[in-house]
Amino acid sequence: MQPFTYSLAVSESDALKAFAGSANSKYIAGGTTLLDLMKYDIERPSHIVNINSLLYKGYRLNGSILEIGALELMSDAAEQADIRRSFPALSKSLLLAASPQLRNMATLGGNLMQRTRCTYFRDTAWPCNKRVPGSGCSAYHGFNRGHAILGGSEHCIAVHPSDFAVALAAFDGIIHLKSAKGERQVKATDFHLLPGNTPDKETVLMPGELITMISVPLTPCALNSTYLKLRDRASYAFAITSVAAGLEVKNGIIQQVKIALGGVATKPWRSLPAEQAAIGSPAGKDAFLHLADLALDGAVPLSHNEFKIQLAKNAIVKTLTQLAAI
Ligand code: SF4
Repeated sequence: MQPFTYSLAVSESDALKAFAGSANSKYIAGGTTLLDLMKYDIERPSHIVNINSLLYKGYRLNGSILEIGALELMSDAAEQADIRRSFPALSKSLLLAASPQLRNMATLGGNLMQRTRCTYFRDTAWPCNKRVPGSGCSAYHGFNRGHAILGGSEHCIAVHPSDFAVALAAFDGIIHLKSAKGERQVKATDFHLLPGNTPDKETVLMPGELITMISVPLTPCALNSTYLKLRDRASYAFAITSVAAGLEVKNGIIQQVKIALGGVATKPWRSLPAEQAAIGSPAGKDAFLHLADLALDGAVPLSHNEFKIQLAKNAIVKTLTQLAAI
């Protein structure tokens, strides 16, 4: 691990100043990703700014908007009665992530910022465009069972590992950001970037910009929602395929449906054409199968993961059937 300096920020301005003072700074909150990657010599910050004293904590229902501080712990957010009752998919996505110990340390903002679990990325013996731009992608012709069938490029096919980000994308979450230049809001679906030919650039976050809050509108789909996570080991593993889904049905007809996929794409994957096509259809297997086909439209299987296409379709149909209670 490379030597680094450290400071504790007690205010926003403190954090922004400390970050700007060093060319290669990183913020740290729970540290559950950053410290691992520093030990592997993948992240090499020269300065670390501890932001745990900032007031980005707690949650509230502000009218019909859920607002959660970015420093809220995953375990705390998952167990909040209002979130469990009104946003079951959000709560489940948090509870099915990582282990209890990690959820007790990791924050929501950090969860959105976690980096891929691609094994080639985490082993410096292998070329990896995300770690060393221009060095090549070892996964493309390597062992790519866990990699992306949607949103990839020849430069990178790593899946985004967050479960919570998938649920946020499905339910129109907003990420609130702050920097020395002011505040801005970004849709959860726009926060993470496709790899294209710059896979090392993973989010729209500017250097030094802080994630302050996450907000999600309370809708009938959010109320009737769930998160299904399929993985190799039920106790603790990243998704091979996951689905965040919400469904509103009136008199047997689909009024609204929200779907986002995890474990199959380079970023949380929302398919608006699939959702739109289902509106007005009878809530049943035919509509769900059609939606699943559209949601996987454009999927490109790799040498070891063709199974993901059918798995993801089955997962979509299963979650929607459960939500429709048919
Ligand atoms: Fe690196 Fe992405 Fe290729 Fe994995 S898939 S080796 S992260 S470039």
